[in-house]
Amino acid sequence: MSDLPAAGWRLRGTLLGPDGAQGADLYIDGSGRVSPEPLPGAEDLATGGWIVPGLVDAHCHVGLGPNGPITDLEECADQARTDRDAGTLLIRDCGSPVDTSALRLREDLPEIIRAGRHVARPKRYIPGLAAELDDPRLLGEEVRTQAARGDGWVKLVGDWIDRGLGDGADLAPLWPDEVLAEAVGAAHEMGARVTAHVFGTDALPGLIGAGIDCIEHGTGLTDDLISEMARRGTALVPTLINVETFPSIAEQATKYPRYAGHMRDLHAHAWETVGRAIEAGVAVYAGTDAGGGIRHGRIADEVAELARAGHPDPIGAASWSARAWLGRPAGPVAGAPADLVVYDRDPRDDLDVLRDPSLVVIRGRRVSVGT
Ligand SMILES: [Zn+2]
Repeated sequence: MSDLPAAGWRLRGTLLGPDGAQGADLYIDGSGRVSPEPLPGAEDLATGGWIVPGLVDAHCHVGLGPNGPITDLEECADQARTDRDAGTLLIRDCGSPVDTSALRLREDLPEIIRAGRHVARPKRYIPGLAAELDDPRLLGEEVRTQAARGDGWVKLVGDWIDRGLGDGADLAPLWPDEVLAEAVGAAHEMGARVTAHVFGTDALPGLIGAGIDCIEHGTGLTDDLISEMARRGTALVPTLINVETFPSIAEQATKYPRYAGHMRDLHAHAWETVGRAIEAGVAVYAGTDAGGGIRHGRIADEVAELARAGHPDPIGAASWSARAWLGRPAGPVAGAPADLVVYDRDPRDDLDVLRDPSLVVIRGRRVSVGT
């Protein structure tokens, strides 16, 4: 990473944001923050191009690899660096078996908003990742523990295959409705928001009714549940590039034909379901689910899938809208850390442009120029 000149940087170009495009002349001061006024002597960093507020991966796992937890913190940092080089400068970590708090504010890495560990029940999630509760009545207490460990989010596993049902095994809820309201309330009392992994339909009414803040995947959403989410302001992060793997999950589930059929059906309707949620007014954000089966650095792929599902502002879903939702400035406001991505062409005309940033600026530092 190159040094930030003491006199700062100047970036000229077309800035994209919630109100469309506008010509911008941005200055970054010697501490890496957006300057409220022009800085004499600032060096030109960009003299054209399209400037986008740092991208957001709203569902990502740092510290989780294809083979489980990654205990080497530098390997965890490599995952975050891969995201950074793709323009992702803010990560909502949706559950990690590893304590990555040492990485979250490192100057060379995207900011990581952590959710602590997944909360699940024994045999009802990927082994070795979650805090597992024998007694579901302990959910409220565990949510408090994870809220204290995280950065304002708690992640529940809402449904998973219940192999205890033998041949009839299928997706099934992990938690009785009555413990959910208490658990979500406990997180809210601590100022944390709650989200849940949900593929099927049955777990959704209890979670949404309990006042959960977000649903991950949400492939089993019905029109009624979508209306309820819109009414309550519950967000959706569909992770469509993960949903793309459902047919291969089904193919491996030869012992559980009912589950396999269910996963194929959810996959077949997922894009249409997301489209209906968007149309109903549910806030939908871009998340890749990188870390397990999905490699890091694929935010542009998810933006393309959201567009395919009918998202009217797929770039905002991975930038200004998602940033505001996560409590960060939507764009380069004075005094904020300068997190910006610059493209040679207008990504609104061709989302493929997002695959190839010409410049990534993280907290005022230049990451890479040209490819
Ligand atoms: Zn995930």
